[in-house]
Amino acid sequence: MTANGAVELWHADCWNEDRRDAQLVREEPVIQVVIAEVARRTPRQAFIVAGCSVLAIGVIASTALAQHTGIVSSQVSVEVVLDETTSLRTANAEREIAPPKPKGIQRLEDQFTVPTLDDKPLDRVFSSLRGWTHPIASADELFPGNPARHFGAERTGVERAECGAGHCGVDLDGPRGRALVAVADGVLITVERRELGGDGRSGRFVRIQHDDGSLTSYMHMDAVDDRLQAGDRVRAAQYIGTLGDSAVPGVPHLHFALEVQRRPGSRDTTFGSTRFIDPAPFLVRSTITESAERRHAVKPAF
Ligand SMILES: [Zn+2]
Repeated sequence: MTANGAVELWHADCWNEDRRDAQLVREEPVIQVVIAEVARRTPRQAFIVAGCSVLAIGVIASTALAQHTGIVSSQVSVEVVLDETTSLRTANAEREIAPPKPKGIQRLEDQFTVPTLDDKPLDRVFSSLRGWTHPIASADELFPGNPARHFGAERTGVERAECGAGHCGVDLDGPRGRALVAVADGVLITVERRELGGDGRSGRFVRIQHDDGSLTSYMHMDAVDDRLQAGDRVRAAQYIGTLGDSAVPGVPHLHFALEVQRRPGSRDTTFGSTRFIDPAPFLVRSTITESAERRHAVKPAF
């Protein structure tokens, strides 16, 4: 056994200091090359290469032995190496079977199914809910994993029965200044540019009524596109402003809310005529746009 862990076989006639030392100087670089080659491979390849190396060393050694003694004895080495390689391959083949999927990980669309209204999927009653553009351009995720950001999470000061523990929207993450877009075609019914908003906690926001009567709101904006006014028509994926932290200083995010008419077909937007709905099923089915469309809003005809 050499210092490198390689096995060298020596014939008794060769085992004198002169020949042994001369042999080591010549052999050692060859063994180092083999070891370096092994290190760059996967464990399975490495074992096979190592097996072949041992085989090669065995053959070289027994050839050398044969030259001295006339006895050919490499067959024993070959069988041992093949047995080890074969058993390793069998063990690896067992590990190559795909492990079962861990429980609890579902596709987002399976996790957030579309709710029904009178046995009809809500996105058939309100067709604008189908094919939304995600409200944050170049968003990193369709939907936050943190339950504290979800619809119905605990919030104080909101008294709406349909909002669970108080949160009537979803808090979507993003840096201040990221472009926000309309999720679907519609008309701006509210453009609030005051920093705290009318109620002191919504911040700057925009509320859009879509063609089917449903409404989406975009709160805590850093800036609302200064070309926009209430009454303007906007298109899906149209730039409406930027993500910010107005009324929630230091915590930039988009509070995104969805309301639908209590009476489908109505366009009434007064308090009580709409109810908040969890936008999650429609966000997870939305498409993230990479570039906000900075087009001019279509002004209403007077
Ligand atoms: Zn929120």
